Amino acid sequence: MIRKVRSHINQNETLLFEQSSPGKRAYQLPALDVPPVDAASVLGSDARTEIEDFPEVSEVEVIRHFTRLSTWNYGIDLGLFPLGSCTMKYNPRINEVVAREPGLAWAHPYQPESLSQGCMEVLALLEEYLCEIFGMDAVTLQPAAGAHGEFTGIMLIRSYLESQGNPRKKVLCPDSAHGTNPATAIIAGYEVENIKSNEKGMVDVEALAKAVNEDVAALMLTNPNTVGVFEEQILTIASILHEKGAQIYMDGANMNALVGISRPGDFGVDVMHSNLHKTFSTPHGGGGPGSGPVGVRKHLEPFLPGPRLKKAGGGWTWDYDRPKSIGRVRAFYGNFGVLVRALAYIMAHGGPGLRNATLDALLTANYVRARLEPYYQIAYQAPSMHECVFSDDRQAAKGVRTGDIAKRLLDYGFHPYTVSFPMIVRGALMIEPTETEPKQELDLFCDALISIAGEIEENPQLVLKAPHGTRTSRVDEVTAARKPVVRWRRNETASKAAD
Ligand SMILES: *Cc1c(COP(=O)(O)O)cnc(C)c1O
Repeated sequence: MIRKVRSHINQNETLLFEQSSPGKRAYQLPALDVPPVDAASVLGSDARTEIEDFPEVSEVEVIRHFTRLSTWNYGIDLGLFPLGSCTMKYNPRINEVVAREPGLAWAHPYQPESLSQGCMEVLALLEEYLCEIFGMDAVTLQPAAGAHGEFTGIMLIRSYLESQGNPRKKVLCPDSAHGTNPATAIIAGYEVENIKSNEKGMVDVEALAKAVNEDVAALMLTNPNTVGVFEEQILTIASILHEKGAQIYMDGANMNALVGISRPGDFGVDVMHSNLHKTFSTPHGGGGPGSGPVGVRKHLEPFLPGPRLKKAGGGWTWDYDRPKSIGRVRAFYGNFGVLVRALAYIMAHGGPGLRNATLDALLTANYVRARLEPYYQIAYQAPSMHECVFSDDRQAAKGVRTGDIAKRLLDYGFHPYTVSFPMIVRGALMIEPTETEPKQELDLFCDALISIAGEIEENPQLVLKAPHGTRTSRVDEVTAARKPVVRWRRNETASKAAD
């Protein structure tokens, strides 16, 4: 039985090349009033006499084409985005209003300190608030992304351990870690050793205790971890590392379950980063820019990237005199426009508001979990934080896997959840609704997944062949990855491309 498909996107837009008709123009220029110059006489053989297949269309056709295409671009402003804050949470419009203030938007990094006091105050305030939220002693705003923050943090640990006489050899990463963690450790010159998780999805403390010795520089931990579970043994974990002189790095890219409730600095973390483009609602799509501030405890502060803000007289100055610093990790002072937005988000909410946002994030995730648990296998019998992770075990019995369910979800007008990640859960469906979702939207989403579970019982083929209502039906992903067609040629019609 095919259910009614809800679709709010136009799926029938042809390529602009196919809308071309010779002689159409999207502009009108006045007649030339200077002598014409032959492009080839200036550019030589680089000059093109003709642009191959250049589409000839009118202005309104161009506008309509791209406006229609923009409606295919599913985003958080259109509906629930179950990939959650780790990919994109709602960007409140107040952030944009503040970032467009001319004194902030038009500031230049080379303008003198005396004219930059407002911008420096913005940076100082954000550092102060992040210190408070992280429970840390100092924060650098330089890193331009989460992975960049990790790199900065591990370099801080390396410099600190070097100053103690031995940088050590290894970094431990739980098997649930985000892929950037082991990559960071390798780039920073460490070997990586994996730590197994237990049946609750948490670090196996006994395995950890065996692995920690004088060769271990740090443990890189995500908490709540990538299966959405809070490491209940975090204090024990911290003391196991500290007893052997090793450090704890916390990957706080996504702190949606912690902000205003629990502070990494209070549970033993030495250094951490957080992604402003995740937890603190700054834009994430379209290639960034992002920001991954790093927070440290006192003993690591001397090693932070320079320059650092310093109070001088009644105002701020940049302090370049930092002999132990690992050096700059980015030009100037970080992605300033992003930092402004994050500060706007923090100040618009205030402390209690941030705490409420966290509680709402926990509530929405646990609501989804409660509604879906009768139909899908929950991965771990531990309390869910800001996200819930199911496995496709029950549906796999009918031959339907997580990727198939995600494709069918497209027919219901939703962006898929995170498919097959974290990798330690077989056939994972990871869902993070975030704090801003109203109950009606959560219910629509849960209804869709429950309906799909029913379809799998009655007619698995329907789901295996999904999507049915989208412009492009199921593609051969293996061939697409192995033999990509990246160039369009006239006469190879779209229908052929869509085969
Ligand atoms: C997103 C993410 C990162 C990497 O952040 P980027 O800004 O993409 O470099 C690292 N760790 C975790 C847990 C993440 O979710």
